[in-house]
Amino acid sequence: MKISNHLLVADSGEKLTYIKSPNQAAGISPIYLIMHYTAGPTLDGAVSWFKNPQAQASAHLVIDRDGSMVQMVAFNRRAWHAGKSQWGNLSGMNQYSIGIELVNAGKLSKNANGQWLTWSKKVIPSEDVTVAKHKDESSEAGWHEYTEAQIEVASMVGLLLHKAYNFTDVLGHDDVSPGHKVDPGPVFPMNSFRSIVLGRA
Ligand SMILES: [Zn+2]
Repeated sequence: MKISNHLLVADSGEKLTYIKSPNQAAGISPIYLIMHYTAGPTLDGAVSWFKNPQAQASAHLVIDRDGSMVQMVAFNRRAWHAGKSQWGNLSGMNQYSIGIELVNAGKLSKNANGQWLTWSKKVIPSEDVTVAKHKDESSEAGWHEYTEAQIEVASMVGLLLHKAYNFTDVLGHDDVSPGHKVDPGPVFPMNSFRSIVLGRA
């Protein structure tokens, strides 16, 4: 896989699709990589939301649970993933970042039968759930786990992007919008992911 004209291009065998989102603009200096979860369990759900002009939201890339990817915004265009956000002296982080969304149902609630449910009341099997405490929250909750395939592909793409755009750091949406956003959440392996992408411990 490589980056050509600000798009990911497969060498061979990799499953990669480009579906353009209308929710984008010119003007980006990508010095950060910002990680998200979709808050839904399917790729189709995320892609159709980001294709909808009403959503006013998008990301450069969406990575499915099997590791397949859809690019929706070229890396030299501004995607609308970070919303109201700030980091250090910068605000409006869409202007300064590439955004990757991982298909993941996110923070879950438990029903009376002890089943874990997404916000839209879909059941997530308990073997795919980890109970953990978010850094900004005071109590534990159930969180949908990421898959190995997803983390592997995200790491590989993160590395490629870092080579092309030379990031200063890798951040979570919850870092740049604390109190409003909790993604990618406590089960995303941010420390190891950051080390891999930036090539430092
Ligand atoms: Zn997010």
